Amino acid sequence: MGLKDWIIQYSPLSYWLVAFIVTGFAVALYRGWFKARKIQPKGFKWTIFRNEAIYGTINVAVSSTFLVWITKVGTESGVIAFHHEPAAWWVIALEYALYFFLFDTWFYWLHRWMHNEPFYSLIHKIHHKSTSPNLLTTISVNPLESLVNGGFVPLFTAVFTVHSETMLLITPTNIIMGLYVHSGYEFLPRWWNKTWATKWFITATFHDQHHKYFRWNFGGYTTIWDYVCNTRRTNYESDFDQIKARAATSKAIAPPAVAARAEQQRGAGLSLKRKKNFHGEEWGHGGHGDKKFSVPNPVFPVSPFLPRGNSSF
Ligand SMILES: [Zn+2]
Ligand SMILES: [Zn+2]
Repeated sequence: MGLKDWIIQYSPLSYWLVAFIVTGFAVALYRGWFKARKIQPKGFKWTIFRNEAIYGTINVAVSSTFLVWITKVGTESGVIAFHHEPAAWWVIALEYALYFFLFDTWFYWLHRWMHNEPFYSLIHKIHHKSTSPNLLTTISVNPLESLVNGGFVPLFTAVFTVHSETMLLITPTNIIMGLYVHSGYEFLPRWWNKTWATKWFITATFHDQHHKYFRWNFGGYTTIWDYVCNTRRTNYESDFDQIKARAATSKAIAPPAVAARAEQQRGAGLSLKRKKNFHGEEWGHGGHGDKKFSVPNPVFPVSPFLPRGNSSF
């Protein structure tokens, strides 16, 4: 069976597996390059990683079965339908933009809703056991949460009849964004948050800070709702700048062996300098105790679950 047939037969589970394998190879090849871009250099914990593998396997098995079933029933009954004829590029672009901004809105508000009790303990808490995300964190989610988020696509395609070509953009967007924001590495360029055209799109640092500081940065695709509702972490942009400055001062862009030699030649002086350059705040302590928290939550009052959520880690 060719890869294409295999993907068709086992979709969407196979998308995840292919994405994981490809990303795994990339990580192995460019460890030095990646190391310089790590958002929380000391954040990784094996026990959390093991639990993510367990939660992730259960979640993918349960939620993909259910979502595939919903989509199948919807398609067979004619509720979910697509235009299969070719469309102009701008039609595809408009349909894609409609999905992009509607999903962003859906994700933001349901995400904030899941941060309130009892939904936090019942649904969202599993995903927040990871305070320093890695690729597995993407799927380490309660199946109910996967249905809340993943259920958007069947719902969207039931309400709007879009072109099947648009779906070829939507499905990878979902997967790539999920993996990127949980990668634990910042790959975007330094100018990202300084340019009007790009600063509205979230970064890995943005969502990483949601896992680390817990009560900020709820957005899934854009920072728009976080701006509007004042839930964007104040230090987000300066932290992003510091991570990028660290990557720029590191010479680890070279392949691992070359980078290791260069590291030896530079001696201990640089590691001291790097530590100093890196970050004003202490990363990787795993709490959600962002002392700078002062912005009132305009919609949901700051709820009593926050300290409890914090102490449970
Ligand atoms: Zn959350
Ligand atoms: Zn997350």
